[in-house]
Amino acid sequence: MSELDRTHERAPAPAPSDWTYAPAPEGRDIVTLDERYGLFVGGEWLEPRSGEHYATISPATEEPLAEIAQAGAEDVDLAVQAARDAFENGWSAISPSERSKYLFRIARILQERSREFAVLESLNGGKPIRESRDVDLPLAAAHFFYYAGWADKLEYAFPNRRPRPVGVAGQIIPWNFPLLMLAWKIAPALAAGNTVVLKPAETTPLSALLFCDVLRQAELPPGVVNIVTGDGRTGAELVKHEDVDKIAFTGSTEVGKAIQRELAGTGKKLTLELGGKAANVIFDDAALDQAVEGIVNGIYFNQGHVCCAGSRLLVQESIYEPLVAKLKRRLATLRVGDPLDKNTDVGAINSRMQLEKIQELVASGEEEGAEIYQPPCRLPEKGYFFAPTVFTNVAQSYRIAQEEIFGPVLSVLTFRTPDEAVEKANNTAYGLSAGVWTEKGSRILWMAQRLRAGVVWANTYNRFDPTAPFGGYKESGFGREGGLHGLEPYLDFDGAETFGG
Ligand code: NDP
Repeated sequence: MSELDRTHERAPAPAPSDWTYAPAPEGRDIVTLDERYGLFVGGEWLEPRSGEHYATISPATEEPLAEIAQAGAEDVDLAVQAARDAFENGWSAISPSERSKYLFRIARILQERSREFAVLESLNGGKPIRESRDVDLPLAAAHFFYYAGWADKLEYAFPNRRPRPVGVAGQIIPWNFPLLMLAWKIAPALAAGNTVVLKPAETTPLSALLFCDVLRQAELPPGVVNIVTGDGRTGAELVKHEDVDKIAFTGSTEVGKAIQRELAGTGKKLTLELGGKAANVIFDDAALDQAVEGIVNGIYFNQGHVCCAGSRLLVQESIYEPLVAKLKRRLATLRVGDPLDKNTDVGAINSRMQLEKIQELVASGEEEGAEIYQPPCRLPEKGYFFAPTVFTNVAQSYRIAQEEIFGPVLSVLTFRTPDEAVEKANNTAYGLSAGVWTEKGSRILWMAQRLRAGVVWANTYNRFDPTAPFGGYKESGFGREGGLHGLEPYLDFDGAETFGG
C-alpha cells in the first residue's frame, strides 16, 4: 500500500476543543548581548568616568540583561566635546550628498538587521514582537531613508533662506519607542549637518547601544553620533551643558517644563514632545466594527505606552451601548503575555514604576465612581503586566479622564452633538492628537478645524509616516518632528527666527 493510501485510511482528526493559540516564540539567539556596556563617544567605547553602572532588565521576566554605564557630568562633557570636534572638523563641511550617503547606509543596515533589532527592542522594552517587527523597525528605517533624501536638497526645501546646521544637538528620548525615537531625532539632525549626543531612557538603552554598531558598519565619522546612557541626571547634565546648541526632548510634560525653565534666556534652541490625553471621537454614522479596531489600536497598541494614545473615548450617546458591547467582546480576544510570542497583542509594562503608576490611577478611577471592565485573562506570574482595561461611567473631572495613564486603560465618555464632542475633546491640558470616526467627509473637516491637537486621524488611529509632521499644542509641547517641519529645528536661517527656536 502506498504512503498516500495509508494517509487516506486515517480517522479524521477530532475538532479541537480548545481554540487558544499554541505559543509561537521568536528566537532570542539572533541577539548577542555584552555583559557590560560603556559609553559611545568619539566612535569608541569608553568606560564611564563616573565609575557607575546599573542593570537593565527584561520587564517581561525581570531577568537582568546587561550592565549599563551611568554617565556623569565629565562623561557628558567628553561626549559634547567629541560632537563639537566632529562638527567643526568635517561633518558640517562635507558635501550634502555625502551626508545623504551615510543616512542611506544606516537605513539599509537597519533593514538588514531588523529582526535582531526587533527582538532586542521587545526583550528590553516589553513590547510585542509583532509591533517591534512590523511598526518600530520599518518606521525607524523609513525615517533614515526619508531624511537621507532631504540632506542634499535643503536649499530647495527652504528656498532663499540659506539653511545652515545649528551645531551640536543634545537629544533625550523616552522608553516607549526606543529605536524609533532615536531615528526621529538622529535622522533629521544629521541630514541638516549637525552632530549629536543622545541619551536613551534609563530602562531601554540596548537598541541605542546596538545602533552604535550600525554606525560602525556605515563608517560614519567618529563623534558625529555619541550615545551617553544613564538616568535623568545624565539628561539634566546634557541640557545644561554650555556647548550644546539645541536640545530636543521627548518625554513627560513635567520634565519638559523643567528643561524649558533651565534653558530660558540661554539662547539654545529647544523642541519638546511631551504627553497627551487624546480623544478618539466616534459618531453614530461610523462603521462600528472598524471603529472598534481603531479604538483597540488607539489604546492597547504598545500597552498604551503611547504619547498620542486614544485614551479618552468619546462615543455619541445613540450608539453607546452597542459600541461598548462590541468593544468588550473584542477585548476578550486580546492576548496578553510574553512579548517575544508572535501571538501576543499586549506585552509587558515597561517598568515596575510605570506599573505602579497605572495601578494607582486605576484605583483612583474606581474610587471616584467609574465602572471598571477587564476581560478574563491570566497574567504571567513574573514580570510587569496589566490587563487591558475599560472604564465606563467616567466624568470629565475624574483623574482617569484628565491625567495621562500611559498604560492599557481606556476611559469612555459620551456626547450628543458635534459641538459637545469638540468641547469635551478639547477639555484637556494636552493637545497632541485626536481621532474622528464618521462616514461624512465634511464632518471630519469640521472637527479637524476645531480640535486643538497636532495630529487628527480620520477613520484610523496611530498611523505614522516620516513625511508627516508630528507634535503638540498646549502642554503637549512645541516643535514638530517628521516631514520638512522636522528639519527646521535643526537649522539656522538668514535673518529669520525659526519655528520652535
Ligand atoms: P521622562 O520625562 O521621565 O523621561 C524622558 C527622558 O528624559 C528619559 O531619557 C529620562 O531619563 C530623561 N530625564 C528624566 N529627568 C530628566 C531631567 N531632569 N533632565 C533631562 N532629562 C531627564 O518620561 P518617561 O521616560 O517616563 O516617558 C513617558 C512620558 O513621555 C509620557 O508622559 C509620554 O507622554 C511622553 N512621551 C511623549 C512623546 C511625544 O512624542 N510627545 C513620545 C513618547 C513619550 P530616565 O529614563 O532616566 O528617566
